[in-house]
Amino acid sequence: MDLMENVISLAKRRGFVFPGSEIYGGLANSYEYGPLGVELKRNIMDAWWQMFVHERTDMVGLDSSIILHPAVWRASGHVASFADALIDCRGCQLRTRADHLIEDFLKERGENPAVEGKSAEELDKLIQGGRIPCPNCAKFDWTPVRHFNLLFETKIGIVPEDQSTAYLRGETAQGIFISFKNIVDSSRVRLPFGVAQLGKSFRNEITKGNFIFRTLEFEQGEIEYFFDPAEQSWEKIFDSWKQAMQRFVVKTLGINEKNLRWRTHPDEERSFYSKRTEDLEYNYPFGYKELWGLAYRTDYDLKQHQKMSGADLSMLDPISGRRVLPHVIEPAVGINRLFLMVLIDAYDEGDDGKNGKRTILKLKPTLAPYKAAVFPLLANKQPLVEAARAIYDELKKSINVAWDDRGNIGKRYFAQDEIGTPWCVTVDFQTLEDQTVTIRDRDTMKQERVPISELASFLNKKISA
Ligand code: ATP
Repeated sequence: MDLMENVISLAKRRGFVFPGSEIYGGLANSYEYGPLGVELKRNIMDAWWQMFVHERTDMVGLDSSIILHPAVWRASGHVASFADALIDCRGCQLRTRADHLIEDFLKERGENPAVEGKSAEELDKLIQGGRIPCPNCAKFDWTPVRHFNLLFETKIGIVPEDQSTAYLRGETAQGIFISFKNIVDSSRVRLPFGVAQLGKSFRNEITKGNFIFRTLEFEQGEIEYFFDPAEQSWEKIFDSWKQAMQRFVVKTLGINEKNLRWRTHPDEERSFYSKRTEDLEYNYPFGYKELWGLAYRTDYDLKQHQKMSGADLSMLDPISGRRVLPHVIEPAVGINRLFLMVLIDAYDEGDDGKNGKRTILKLKPTLAPYKAAVFPLLANKQPLVEAARAIYDELKKSINVAWDDRGNIGKRYFAQDEIGTPWCVTVDFQTLEDQTVTIRDRDTMKQERVPISELASFLNKKISA
């Protein structure tokens, strides 16, 4: 776990990620993204939007509400299925609803089950003690009952008697489904097409640890890709999304392909409405874990919302003249999990060329918080400082650059390597004579001289290379 500890410590020390509410003793599963973290996170989100919305002709975007009508979560099944008391059999891994288990058991014996409204503790007492066996393997080896209601409840209205319960969205996807009709009516989309959304989701997670991997609130990037199963092959669409997801992780985020793998959900793990679910997993220091889910959700969601709202959510196929309730394939990712992967994959240690150690974040330049840092060779030589400041001010108009005039050059390189700044620009005495600067490369540590007049285009070319 050394790597993980190093990454967590670097993240805090250099302002990527801080523990949540730290001055009040912390809040489990919550974190703050610091001055550098917010830049990295935005860069990842921008890259995601660029690839999945702007570069495609079959995608549009959406920004729906965090608080939706509570009926949305009833229709989607979240209210019912996120609120269950679950219990696992350690013998055969059967996961079942604790209340159903008791009800079935008592009914079989002719007893009248009264389990509604019982707490987890009360359900536990009824099940444990060997009284109720596993219906699958007949063992008496249950985990304790746990409530898995992941939806965060809130209240709309400020007068207590007029308040109504609402939920913070547990996923961004439902916002897409409920705006489906408006999107179809207002834009010239034709099947197959997708709707992408980036935004916060909230889940009452109880599992602790693993840094920002699982948090109470997280930034989700979800795509609902709608198609007509009579016209398009879902297998082909599924496969093309697999490739697009992998390409984004490897090419856009620069992740080592060796640390990725796909896992297909077995039947018992898959949601009942899903025909196929596969997860793209990353080899985190705590093991291979879900990074990005890809699910064929059929027409389950649109059908549910159609049924519960009464609205017609079908769309007209102008070629066949048929009305179609589209099916959907959903790639859903947590941006924070991408962020953690990017930090872990980029973390490296090397020597500084002078027998010292240096930490390097080998971030892709497009993702790096600062693309370059500008230094005057000496902080107490006014002409150097002025020349460097002019370069810094000019570059800042188009490229996010850092300024540093503390300590010696070696220390400044060290500090920039640690936060992943790809290039350092030094203004020295030669600059004052010939208007050139030294550019030092983070990964190769090589230096070259570039005229100030060509600096911006030099950096831009390197960034997009
Ligand atoms: P897990 O099994 O890890 O709880 P999930 O299968 O519930 O995840 P989905 O509902 O498929 O997750 O959500 C899509 C994506 O959102 C996941 O692949 C993951 O990247 C991200 N995600 C889900 N829950 C969290 C969380 N609590 N914190 C950060 N990211 C999350």
